[in-house]
Amino acid sequence: MATLGVLGGGQLGRMFVHAAQALGYETVVLDPDAGSPAGHVSQHFIHADYRDAQALRDLATLAGAVTTEFENVPAESLAALAADRPVSPMADCVAIAQDRIREKAHFTRCAAAGGVAPAPYAVIESEADLADVPDALLPGVLKTARLGYDGKGQARVATRDELAAAWQQMGRVACVLEQLLPLAAECSVIVARGRDGQVVSLPVQRNLHRDGILAVTEVFEDNVPPALAQQARAATEQIATELGYVGVLCVEYFVLQDGRLVVNEMAPRPHNSGHYTVDACDVSQFELQVRTLAGLPLTAPRQHSAAVMLNLLGDLWFDVVDGEDVPRTPPWPALLALPGAHLHLYGKAEARRGRKMGHLTFTAADAASVRATAQQACALLGLEAF
Ligand code: ATP
Ligand code: MG
Ligand code: MG
Repeated sequence: MATLGVLGGGQLGRMFVHAAQALGYETVVLDPDAGSPAGHVSQHFIHADYRDAQALRDLATLAGAVTTEFENVPAESLAALAADRPVSPMADCVAIAQDRIREKAHFTRCAAAGGVAPAPYAVIESEADLADVPDALLPGVLKTARLGYDGKGQARVATRDELAAAWQQMGRVACVLEQLLPLAAECSVIVARGRDGQVVSLPVQRNLHRDGILAVTEVFEDNVPPALAQQARAATEQIATELGYVGVLCVEYFVLQDGRLVVNEMAPRPHNSGHYTVDACDVSQFELQVRTLAGLPLTAPRQHSAAVMLNLLGDLWFDVVDGEDVPRTPPWPALLALPGAHLHLYGKAEARRGRKMGHLTFTAADAASVRATAQQACALLGLEAF
C-alpha cells in the first residue's frame, strides 16, 4: 500500500499528509477547494466535490486505504469507497458522530454500561417534543442535531418562549436541548483503535474556548485531577470500542463545578486539541491516524514534554486603525525567540477573523515553565492571558 487517501484538505488533512509522508507513503487529497492546505503538500490532489462519483473512483484507484479529516464528509461517500478498500473511520461511525441525537444515544448506552453520561437532554423534532420538554432542562442549550461547529448552530435559552423562538430561528430542524451545566473546566481525550481492536489513548487535554472556538490547550500532569483523567481515558476507550471504531477519535468532556465528569461530543478524526502531540509526544495523533489506516502496530504514546498550545486565528493578522482592519504579520521572530516554541502555519492564502490559520505549541520540562512561556507569547500576540 504505497498511497493513502484523505477526504478533506484542511489543516488536519495537511498534518495527516506530513505524518504519512514521514512514514514513506504518498498521499492523495480530495477537496472541493483548489487552494486547500493539504492539497498543497500532497503528491496527488483531486479537486472535486465529496459526492462526485468519478472523483471517488479516481481516489479509489490511487489510494490503498482512505481516511477523512472532516467530520461532515458525506457518510455515503465513505461507504462507497469502502466497497473495495479499507476506509477508516467507517461510514456508520462517522454517521453517528455527525448526528447529535445518535451520538447522545450512544453515550447513554455507554453510560449504562459503566461509562460517563451526557448532560440531561431531550430530542426536539416536533411541536409535541417542544411541549414535552421538562422544566428541569431550562435554562438550556439548543443545538442543531447536524452540522454545528465552533459554537455555530446553537442557542442558549432560559425560558420556554425563548426555546420556541430559537427552534423557529433554526428552521425547526432536528435538535437536542441540553441542560445548561455549571462548568469548572473542559477537557478532551484522543484514542486510536486498530482493526485488531487494540486501543491506545493520549493524555487528557484541558481546553479553554473563547467565543465558541478552542483558544488554548494545556497538557501536563494534574491539569485535571488524576482520578478524573483516568475516568475520561477509560470512558473514551469504551466509546470507541462499543462503536467498533477504527481510526483516531476525540471525545470532549465537561468537568462540572461539583467535580463530576459529563461527556459532550465526539469528533471522528484527529482534533485541534491534539495538535500538541506533534511536538510533545513520541507518537502524534496524525501518526496514529496513519498507523490505524495502514494497519501498522500501535504503541502507547508517551508525552515527553509539558505542553501548551495556542490557536492562531485570523484576527492576529489585523491591526485595527481608526476602526478599520489593517493587515499585519504577527511577530514571528519574537515568538520563535521563546524557548520551546513550535510554530505551525497551515498555508491558507487569506486571513479572516475567526479562521484557524495556525497554532503555536510550547514545550518545556514542567508545567510552570511552559505556562510562563505561553503567557509571554500571549502578551506578544495581544491575546488575553489564560
Ligand atoms: P466544536 O467546535 O468543538 O465541534 P460545537 O459547535 O460542536 O463545538 P459544543 O462542543 O457542543 O459545540 O459546544 C460548544 C461550547 O459551548 C462547549 O465547548 C461549552 O463551552 C459550551 N457548552 C455546550 N453545551 C453546554 C452545556 N450543556 N452546558 C454548558 N456549556 C455548554
Ligand atoms: Mg462539535
Ligand atoms: Mg465541541
